[in-house]
Amino acid sequence: MEQQTKHVIIVGGSLGGLFAGVALKQEGFDTTILERNPTNLLENQGAGIVAGGDTLAFFERYDRCKRAVAVASQKRMYLDKSGDVVHEEVMKQTMTSWDLCYYMLRANYDHQQSDYCKAPGPQPGDGKIDYRYGCTVAGFAYEGDKVRVSYDKAGGGKESVVGDMLVGADGPSSTIRKILYPDIERKYAGYCVIRGTVPEEAASEEAKAAFVERFTFFHSPGIQNLTYTIPGTNGAMEEGKRLLNFVWYTNFPEGEQELEEVMTDKDGKRRRLTIPPGQMRDEAWEMVKKRGRDRLPPQMSEMVEKTRNPFVQCITDVITPKNSFDHGKVVLIGDALAGFRPHTVASTSQAAFDVLMLIHYLKTGNHAEFVRRTMEYARLIQHRGVYIGNRSQFESLQLKDYIEDRNMMSIVREDLEFPEWTQVRV
Ligand SMILES: Cc1cc2nc3c(=O)[nH]c(=O)nc-3n(C[C@H](O)[C@H](O)[C@H](O)COP(=O)(O)OP(=O)(O)OC[C@H]3O[C@@H](n4cnc5c(N)ncnc54)[C@H](O)[C@@H]3O)c2cc1C
Repeated sequence: MEQQTKHVIIVGGSLGGLFAGVALKQEGFDTTILERNPTNLLENQGAGIVAGGDTLAFFERYDRCKRAVAVASQKRMYLDKSGDVVHEEVMKQTMTSWDLCYYMLRANYDHQQSDYCKAPGPQPGDGKIDYRYGCTVAGFAYEGDKVRVSYDKAGGGKESVVGDMLVGADGPSSTIRKILYPDIERKYAGYCVIRGTVPEEAASEEAKAAFVERFTFFHSPGIQNLTYTIPGTNGAMEEGKRLLNFVWYTNFPEGEQELEEVMTDKDGKRRRLTIPPGQMRDEAWEMVKKRGRDRLPPQMSEMVEKTRNPFVQCITDVITPKNSFDHGKVVLIGDALAGFRPHTVASTSQAAFDVLMLIHYLKTGNHAEFVRRTMEYARLIQHRGVYIGNRSQFESLQLKDYIEDRNMMSIVREDLEFPEWTQVRV
């Protein structure tokens, strides 16, 4: 099938879909990206991303903007409740931001100009591109060797597009997955993550000492907080211009009033899984800030008090049993394949890895290797995310156990061992 593949339809125009679009274009494939967002650009998520090995490898290979994508942290630290450092180790790690990755990928895909980077022009050999927003994919059907993808237009009406292959990069609540596996659902794990950023220059000296170029943790029963430095406005990397990004996991058991409070937005609507930036109710935010003052080290509570763009995500679990259908005519990548818990810091890297493997498959015809390696990785990391997440939130461990769990997630993909139960026979 790979020999005939010329036009690839990608569902989802966030990082996973754009990784696919950029790589396929540069490898000479024609692509159409269908994104449901009603406007051309996605909202800035205002969030940090740990730039794992495959994310960096992707930019190394396919980025033509030639700007830095990540800032480095030099040390990993653990704080106690009073804010004292109780453990530290020298460990270099690289951090980026959702918006910087997004704008670099849009520059590389459809030459979107922005203050993040100068968009490179087309090059000989590139495939044709077509980014369509306001297109909510509702279904697909095989037509001989082709696949027809149908979608609803934001302004009303239905349309469809025909290609040789469909890549589902439509995230953890994937429509493509729902069509293939109607019974699989994302399950709430019993806790949320409160996230936000604070400009480096707005932080106290104590907070800067804890978070600037550091990867800093705090654990206590029902709580994990991780704070680190990420690029600033328009991807600024200079000292003083970056952002401090906090990721605070805190338990909100299903059915309890506090979960209802935190997940009800400014318009009084109970959101299922996310309260985006700007949508938190003042009362809910006051409740969260008080929780921070009571339960976090002072430097971390300061971040919660000072952020202007908090948002909340419910932590969920989901994984698809298979990622390739009709011998590779339809594939799932990134969060559509497996929604990892963020403790794994591997979701973006998964999407990048899936795309690197997809390109390998389309160039070599080795479908079995694509399926085997992407599925094994998804199964292992999804399982580990559940394991370390539950230990962090629902057990009371010694510091050394938290450190051990964290270090397990830092093993580079190439050194991972895949137990029997992760393995796939194709
Ligand atoms: C706020 C935030 C913080 C994050 N932090 C981290 C982090 O620290 N580390 C990390 O590794 N990862 C992080 N991630 C996750 C990371 O961004 C994703 O794993 C990565 O973008 C790959 O996701 P994806 O593109 O597969 O799915 P998503 O990012 O969920 O994108 C799916 C896209 O598909 C579109 N879509 C959905 N359904 C349809 C449909 N029917 N038709 C058309 N379009 C559709 C959606 O609008 C969306 O744009 C974060 C994500 C967010 C949002």
